[in-house]
Amino acid sequence: MLNPIFKKEKFKKSVREEVKNLFRTTLEEANSHQIYQAVCYVVKDVIIDNWMKTQKVMNETDPKIVYYMSMEFLTGRYLGNNLLNLTAYGEVKEALDELGIDLNAIEDEERDPALGNGGLGRLAACFLDSLATLGYAAYGCGIRYHYGMFKQEIRDGYQVEVPDNWLKDGGYPFELKRPEYAKEIKFGGYVRVSYNQETGRNDFIQEGYQSVRAIPYDLPVVGYNNNVVNTLRIWDAEAINDFQLDSFDKGDYHKAVEQENLARTIVEVLYPNDNHMAGKELRLKQQYFFISASVQTAIQKYKKNHGDIRKLYEKITFQMNDTHPTVAVPELMRILMDEEGLTWDEAWEVTTRTCAYTNHTIMAEALEKWPIELFSRLLPRVYQIVEEINRRFCERVRAQYPNNEEKIRKMAVIYDGQVRMANLAIVGGYSVNGVARLHTEILEKRELKDFYEMMPEKFNNKTNGITQRRFLLHGNPLLAGWVTEHVGKEWVTDLSRNKGLTVYADDEKAQAEFMNIKYQNKVRLAKYIQEHNGVEIDPRSIFDVQVKRLHEYKRQLLNILHVMYLYNKIKEHPELPFYPRTFIFGAKASAGYERAKSIIKLINNVGGVINHDETIKGKLKVVFIEDYRVSNAELIFAAADVSEQISTASKEASGTGNMKFMLNGALTLGTMDGANVEIVEEVGEENAFIFGLTADEVMNYEQNGGYNPMQYFNNDPDIRQVLMQLINGMYSGGDMNMFRDIYNSLLNTQNSSRADMYFILADFKSYAAAQERVEAKYRNEAAWARSAILNTACAGKFSSDRTIQEYVDDIWKLERITVK
Ligand SMILES: *Cc1c(COP(=O)(O)O)cnc(C)c1O
Repeated sequence: MLNPIFKKEKFKKSVREEVKNLFRTTLEEANSHQIYQAVCYVVKDVIIDNWMKTQKVMNETDPKIVYYMSMEFLTGRYLGNNLLNLTAYGEVKEALDELGIDLNAIEDEERDPALGNGGLGRLAACFLDSLATLGYAAYGCGIRYHYGMFKQEIRDGYQVEVPDNWLKDGGYPFELKRPEYAKEIKFGGYVRVSYNQETGRNDFIQEGYQSVRAIPYDLPVVGYNNNVVNTLRIWDAEAINDFQLDSFDKGDYHKAVEQENLARTIVEVLYPNDNHMAGKELRLKQQYFFISASVQTAIQKYKKNHGDIRKLYEKITFQMNDTHPTVAVPELMRILMDEEGLTWDEAWEVTTRTCAYTNHTIMAEALEKWPIELFSRLLPRVYQIVEEINRRFCERVRAQYPNNEEKIRKMAVIYDGQVRMANLAIVGGYSVNGVARLHTEILEKRELKDFYEMMPEKFNNKTNGITQRRFLLHGNPLLAGWVTEHVGKEWVTDLSRNKGLTVYADDEKAQAEFMNIKYQNKVRLAKYIQEHNGVEIDPRSIFDVQVKRLHEYKRQLLNILHVMYLYNKIKEHPELPFYPRTFIFGAKASAGYERAKSIIKLINNVGGVINHDETIKGKLKVVFIEDYRVSNAELIFAAADVSEQISTASKEASGTGNMKFMLNGALTLGTMDGANVEIVEEVGEENAFIFGLTADEVMNYEQNGGYNPMQYFNNDPDIRQVLMQLINGMYSGGDMNMFRDIYNSLLNTQNSSRADMYFILADFKSYAAAQERVEAKYRNEAAWARSAILNTACAGKFSSDRTIQEYVDDIWKLERITVK
């Protein structure tokens, strides 16, 4: 039901009023950004009413709550999504039209809150959307970084990182500061033990510490058409002492400065590493900062309505998004014992029934390990607890596997001078889940085999998903409308309804409509690329897209080497038929990841050469879209024909970009990795292009050595030609060294790492063959349209609504709330 505030006349009046109140100006004189802010405040009014109603229902019905703990939430813009979920988008669009204002232009005024790197952060955002839409009580808990993911500019083909000051112009319109819920967070110092006569137990008192005040800011998470508004609570930091005059004596002055510094630095910036552990002290501070604040809050809220802290797990689950929030385990133990007076055994029982862990990767460089020295210095009391967890767990392991130190070596929480966060998360929780079937199998059979054998009941799979509300309803209005025409509107909250599209796969009219919509979306993206990159592309060409973080395992390098190969073919055989193609890339590289940055430079330079070669008559174009992020992602998925999901098998735990493309009718060109396996299972292998080594083959090579890329270099002239072009100056204005590191990484064993770690040469020919199948199929318009429709039709499984319902059924056990 439409809220009366959105009735056109009423809404227009409210926007006028708001512009006047906020900026002392008239709507006619206001600029787009002012109008954007005014519209946000009108919408926020409606949201706040529902927010309070949701809180009231939660207080009355006392449902179990999941706290989704995540260092990252990559929400994307709020305005459009909020309007859609309030089912007011159409009405507001018309109202603004009548005022001569374009809603899309207003939406473009909003910066993307970029509080995440990539897939992991976006998953958290999709989950919150699904939780609210399904009517489950949930809090997202995170950090209010002052600088989110950097803005990427491409200058002379190189990535340049520009700070993203998303809070400039005075905060964010939809957030609400809640100083009344501030918490103190303590770092460092030492633990004094003192015997307590009354309790007959030792008290553990942290002294000589520095502390900061954690201040929560709440962002509303609006459910679709159900009045539910959940909360994403992100924590900011403020200094505790604020330089009070009386602390200006000698010792305190120094401490005051340090505390001030701590408060200023702790939430300053998001670490821009995806799937890679930086190991910085500040990062561990960030982790403890938001976890301690969130755990304290959850316990305080619980205690308002419940007497027995030993039943905490009946009302609360802490879901840990990767190992980043794992200090929640010892922090909860600390609070339960030191502040709530539980015994170790009581506290352990509660903790291990409250915490649950999602594993996101098996790559060694991403596994979080902290040196004992650092961990114990920063978190002295928490470290004591980790030590005791480790001591008791190792005792258990030794009892179960006598004289088997190998088990200890693999499973201990503290080992070799380091605290191992994954092991802590597994030992300290009741659930360990992987994020796609293949990934979970690899965890159980290989990476976490010992844990799986010891505690199989903890392990489960939750294949990732994406919200169709943002990635179809908002991002692709034309296709969304078409789907609704054919299967009704219910798909918005039940994506399995898309199955009903299957019957149209062979229908000529439906095929024409579907491909026409794809064409319109390609025109829309071409316009964006023209405006932002100054490159002209042909919307009739095949749009072959790879957008995701730049990482060697994701193999953007395989893609661009193949483009170089195609270019060679076209030059050598201009007479051969070649269907025009546009290769579109978008990717940020972590600021310190040199090889990834050189791959960006290579892509841009290859584009620079190919795009300007008149002799190939526009058959091939390469575009690198600057600053890939949620807002432009929505345009990109809608316009894609081919979805490049070409990670080295076994490396991509799930992927979620693959699902967004599928939903928008792109065909997957991919390896049997992550959720690609399940995508192909749903849509049928004949509606995708699968190539390359399998996960088992890759892992066997890795375990037994035996892979030698030189054999491909020596035996395959096409591969050799392309590799030589990395070092002959062809794509570097004659500079033979510009891409030599990339060349070396493929062929030479350097500082103990294997050559071609990601099996690019091994998969090259099979990738090229798959690309030939792409071209052949695209020439058959009906066949392509059929497959494209089937991809949209079979995407139902990949809704995050399905994923969340599985988390609820198997792990969280929540009950739904209803808000009138
Ligand atoms: C979905 C998404 C990702 C994850 O993409 P993958 O292909 O799964 O790595 C990263 N960034 C943004 C902006 C996304 O929307």
